[in-house]
Amino acid sequence: MAKKAKKSSPKRLRPATELVHGGTLRSQFGETSEALFMTQGFVYASAEAAAARFSGEEPGYIYSRFSNPTVAMFEERMRLLEGAGAVRSAATGMAAVTAAILCSLKTGDHVVAAKALFGSCRYIVEDLVPRYGITSTLVDGTDLDQWRNAMTKNTKILFLESPTNPTLEVVDIAAVAEIAHKAGARLIVDNVFATPLQQKPLQLGADVVVYSATKHIDGQGRCLGGVILSDEKFVTDHLHNYLRQTGPSLSPFNAWVLLKGLETLAVRVERQTASAAKLADYLAGHKKIKRLVYPGRADHPQADIVKKQMSAGSNLIAFEVKGNRAGAFKMANGFEIIKISNNLGDAKSLVTHPSTTTHQRLSEEARRELGITQGLLRLSVGLEDVEDLADDLDRGLAALG
Ligand SMILES: *Cc1c(COP(=O)(O)O)cnc(C)c1O
Repeated sequence: MAKKAKKSSPKRLRPATELVHGGTLRSQFGETSEALFMTQGFVYASAEAAAARFSGEEPGYIYSRFSNPTVAMFEERMRLLEGAGAVRSAATGMAAVTAAILCSLKTGDHVVAAKALFGSCRYIVEDLVPRYGITSTLVDGTDLDQWRNAMTKNTKILFLESPTNPTLEVVDIAAVAEIAHKAGARLIVDNVFATPLQQKPLQLGADVVVYSATKHIDGQGRCLGGVILSDEKFVTDHLHNYLRQTGPSLSPFNAWVLLKGLETLAVRVERQTASAAKLADYLAGHKKIKRLVYPGRADHPQADIVKKQMSAGSNLIAFEVKGNRAGAFKMANGFEIIKISNNLGDAKSLVTHPSTTTHQRLSEEARRELGITQGLLRLSVGLEDVEDLADDLDRGLAALG
């Protein structure tokens, strides 16, 4: 059985170091790279040992729906990186979001969420929970009065994402956490766009952080995964049993891919963000671009909040081109290096037209309210040479006519 790595230092290591070594469990073979324990279950030396394992008298793995050594390594590395008390993983980002929201709720409870959410997150809040007698209110996340006014005596969960998908609005996490706590509610933050490196929601006062590990954490377009980070109490009282009994478990294989992804997360995100900052400045000055939103720029609508809560501007850029949908399509079709895809945080630069893809489900009016116009494109900057990407933007701009 894999043994816990020796605690090398009582001090907390810096993120880039945790990303390489954190949570490693070495087997008796002393392998360098983390082992892939591709197993459903575990065998016991005796019937007594099985009984002791099940009763909790003896520690150890029982069944990979509950826990698995490769999955445990991934979870522990994420926990150390985030500085959280406890962590669980899930098969996808959406399984993580759904578990984080549902695990503590019951009929009669109330959820308040920012309107500007990843499409499926919005479905959970707007369509799914009301079917079980849990009411929900959507607010403009950037307007603190709307959060305050939405609170009721039954409000249990506040949910937001920042920067938001796809318009890269930024919500004041500390201020919303304070509103939540005043009402005895919990704040859940979907931190995908900022990554664990550029924003620390738990330190800002959030109670739960969720990730789609599918994005930057894998970062190479290979597999899906999700993570939920919080304190021991939330995990013990609510999350643990919800996940254990309903079973949206992360595959050991995907956990292994994600572990290897974490090793390079810091260098990838740093490089992608530096490129994104350059490309955002380049595009912002172009006459064919009507509007550009990048959290790392001084003209971002919530630049003061960005400064307060983010250490860098993310690898995503949102911009509106002249010529509406036809213009956006021409530009996207004009790229040769930048691929058309709805994923993000990938090594490959990817562009998406949110109003006809990720946010197609919303009405045109709901999209307009969120600033998701027909001319809007979302660019996820990858690891290519930034000069080649700038040349590709030129190709797209030329195709725009
Ligand atoms: C992709 C994404 C999700 C969902 O993650 P999956 O891994 O695709 O299930 C949730 N929130 C945000 C902000 C995302 O970008």
